[in-house]
Amino acid sequence: MTKSSPQEAKLVPDILRNDLCAGCGGCSVIAPHAYKMEMSSDGFLRPVNIGQVSTEVENEIAQICPGLGQSLSLNERSSDPLWGPCTDVCSGWSTDRQMRHRASSGGALSAILKYLLETKYVDRVVQTAENPDHPVANMAVLSSTTEQILISSGSRYAPSAPLTALITDLDRSQKHAFVGKPCDIAALKVMMDRDAELSKAIPITLSFFCAGVPSELGAFEILDTMGLNPNDVVSFRYRGMGWPGHATATLKDGTTSQMSYHDSWGGILSKKVQHRCKICADSVGSAADIVCADAWHCDENGYPLFTEAEGVSLIISRTARGQSSLAEATAAGYLQTERFPIADVASMQPGQVRKKSAVAARLFALRLMGYRTPRYRGLQVLRAAFFSSPVELIRNFLGMIRRRPR
Ligand SMILES: Cc1cc2nc3c(=O)[nH]c(=O)nc-3n(C[C@H](O)[C@H](O)[C@H](O)COP(=O)(O)OP(=O)(O)OC[C@H]3O[C@@H](n4cnc5c(N)ncnc54)[C@H](O)[C@@H]3O)c2cc1C
Ligand code: SF4
Ligand code: SF4
Repeated sequence: MTKSSPQEAKLVPDILRNDLCAGCGGCSVIAPHAYKMEMSSDGFLRPVNIGQVSTEVENEIAQICPGLGQSLSLNERSSDPLWGPCTDVCSGWSTDRQMRHRASSGGALSAILKYLLETKYVDRVVQTAENPDHPVANMAVLSSTTEQILISSGSRYAPSAPLTALITDLDRSQKHAFVGKPCDIAALKVMMDRDAELSKAIPITLSFFCAGVPSELGAFEILDTMGLNPNDVVSFRYRGMGWPGHATATLKDGTTSQMSYHDSWGGILSKKVQHRCKICADSVGSAADIVCADAWHCDENGYPLFTEAEGVSLIISRTARGQSSLAEATAAGYLQTERFPIADVASMQPGQVRKKSAVAARLFALRLMGYRTPRYRGLQVLRAAFFSSPVELIRNFLGMIRRRPR
């Protein structure tokens, strides 16, 4: 086979032009000589072209890029149109009280990581933590102690690209757990299918339900609303330290300023989510071995209450490997869990039902306007549309026409 010669990049510029980039960093892993992830002026991580690429490399990027599409391989599992393949569904929390308090919901995800590390199932965890040099931003980290897992717990509603840890930091002779957004995991799974050594180095992947990545400008708006100068902020948490906890800025003088989850996520961040997330057919991490989410308490109408409480995570295992790790972590006392009926997940996560059931109408609107859209296979986008009403579908169709990509 002859190698194609380097040429001017075409594929990634086209993905960016159609605003399809999820910011996962996969292209910079495939072609680190050609792409580097940088923060764009509108506050999203985007690949910047730093060198020539061959057609061969562009073809490789096309296979893994979630902006272009995602395929779910079921391997004889059944899959729910809203919630994906589920081997076990439960609610629960970390039995480590500090972890439960500090984490996003019940700390179940961190408790599973703690179990995997302490039992030497893995040597290190690839995950996301606060960037100490730029506290509202994220960085990919490799954790090898329970303390590091604790520090990295809690959701950070800002751009992240944990896949970039694969470029230089991953020691392929060690075993890793990988935590990422659903689109990160989808890209990683394709890379692992094509690279047996990488697949051996990452025996387990964990993800979470994902409402979308907000622009970093959202965090600056939170600081501005709090009346703070970003230069005075030495640490920034998006939530946690309670459930759901508060967005909390710590200043140089040691004082803190807080904003409720309702105001920070509901009032600011959720309105600054990137375009790709609005047409995401897999916000529930169908490709991961285990996913966690908020097991929100609901009011009498079935809608989540965001009143402070002790955290509870929803935990779904999706593969035999995820199922056994979850069972073992529970049996070993890292987690307290109880079975949760899958039929009740919809009332706990109405936002995810709305999101998935709207995708078909939104994709249809974009295609009619001539935009490129991701190709989804195995994610049951059309079946999910039946969980919406005709009025909602029309509203989403018209909404996408109004808010088309720039
Ligand atoms: C952008 C975003 C959107 C979300 N949307 C929803 C939603 O719609 N519904 C819902 O129920 N839950 C959502 N979550 C997940 C939720 O906030 C909790 O993470 C989940 O409930 C698990 O809680 P936990 O206490 O078990 O996790 P924890 O024990 O707190 O562990 C969280 C893990 O996530 C990693 N992490 C944190 N931020 C990021 C990031 N930006 N990128 C990659 N990894 C990260 C951490 O490194 C840690 O390993 C979202 C999270 C993020 C980051
Ligand atoms: S979605 Fe990921 S792989 Fe695709 S262009 Fe964006 S950063 Fe690169
Ligand atoms: S909503 Fe989908 S595309 Fe957006 S960050 Fe989450 S998983 Fe990725």
